[in-house]
Amino acid sequence: MANTDPESSRAADDLIARAARLDADDPLAHCRARFVLPEAMIYLDGNSLGAYPASVGVRLDDVLNRQWSQRLIRSWDEGWWETPERVGDRIAGLVGAARGQVVVGDSTSVNIFKLAIAGARMRPDRTRIVIDSASFPTDGYIVDSVARLLGLAVTRADQSDLDNVLGDDVALALLNHVDYRTGKLWDMASLTRSVHNCGAVALWDVCHSVGVVPLQFDALDVELAVGCTYKYLNGGPGAPAFLYVREDLHDALDQPLTGWHGHVDPFGMQSDYEPAAGIIRGRVGSPPLLSMLALDAALDAYDGVSLADARAKTQSVTGIFIDALDRSLAPGVIEIATPRDSSQRAGQVSIAHPRARELVHELIPLGVLADFREPDIIRCGFSPLYIGHTDAVNAVRALASLLNQ
Ligand SMILES: *Cc1c(COP(=O)(O)O)cnc(C)c1O
Repeated sequence: MANTDPESSRAADDLIARAARLDADDPLAHCRARFVLPEAMIYLDGNSLGAYPASVGVRLDDVLNRQWSQRLIRSWDEGWWETPERVGDRIAGLVGAARGQVVVGDSTSVNIFKLAIAGARMRPDRTRIVIDSASFPTDGYIVDSVARLLGLAVTRADQSDLDNVLGDDVALALLNHVDYRTGKLWDMASLTRSVHNCGAVALWDVCHSVGVVPLQFDALDVELAVGCTYKYLNGGPGAPAFLYVREDLHDALDQPLTGWHGHVDPFGMQSDYEPAAGIIRGRVGSPPLLSMLALDAALDAYDGVSLADARAKTQSVTGIFIDALDRSLAPGVIEIATPRDSSQRAGQVSIAHPRARELVHELIPLGVLADFREPDIIRCGFSPLYIGHTDAVNAVRALASLLNQ
């Protein structure tokens, strides 16, 4: 660090020592060995594209060289067909859902489309959809189209202002659990209660919380939810997303993409659509099996992982990261856009700086991979499975070496 006065170098040594102690006590430290990462790299982009779990290559070798090449079409009867529900049940364990309520397939965007329409159809007399104004853009794009298709209005609102825009004309509220830009984690319990108080249906997007925050869909009575699998769940580029529908709503679920994989009798080849019972009606057409089985293998990285431990670790690692930023940089050099209260953060810390875009590039040769979000945000994601406290402190050292010149 450029700042070489003895007091600050002692402070830096303190931080490194504290990080090492915390890493030594980390109950998830062994999970790092489940991943293959480049040498000497601190990967802070696991909230965008999760790292590569070694289990994936082993599984795909079997999928390609036995299931596909040798078993051929028979593999559909040997487990392929049920993969969306089976992998869905594995994810159910991560989102506080009993089995039979999660199915995997399609992208998050497509699943938002399916569930926003299905959700709005549950309240046919209502005329409005409410969406988080800071939402990841795809959510808003899809909701606008859904509203046009159904002849509904859309209200964009800050989630802190939700109670003021909800009313008895609202059919559906699409909420983001984490602000993708600032990393703020919203209180799912209280926002869901607000939506229910006005009689609307809650559709949660948990792309940035699944795998880092213990979720409680069943306990909170959440009706509908969607989430990504290529972020903290490490499913790989373009891995299929998932959707959740509360069990008592399955029979009424009028899912608009009525493809044959959601049919009650897909091989009956009937001319009319009759939806399957249960969560299967969330399916559409042939799933991307190679990606889905890669995701299945990737989920092994969560085997035996307590999400309470994952949550505690991420809060602690992001905490030391913020602490290190405070101590290593002069006041005002950067702005931390993420809440300092660790109960309001998920796995991400966002740093605002006018040269954010350049800094993200300059960090790469220093062994730190983070990402840039418009307009001025350096986004750092901390996977509980492979990023520790020492990584966090060293990433700050790299950033400070660029900023303290
Ligand atoms: C990453 C992300 C998505 C991605 O959608 P895809 O259709 O799967 O590409 C959607 N919503 C949020 C909040 C996200 O963070």
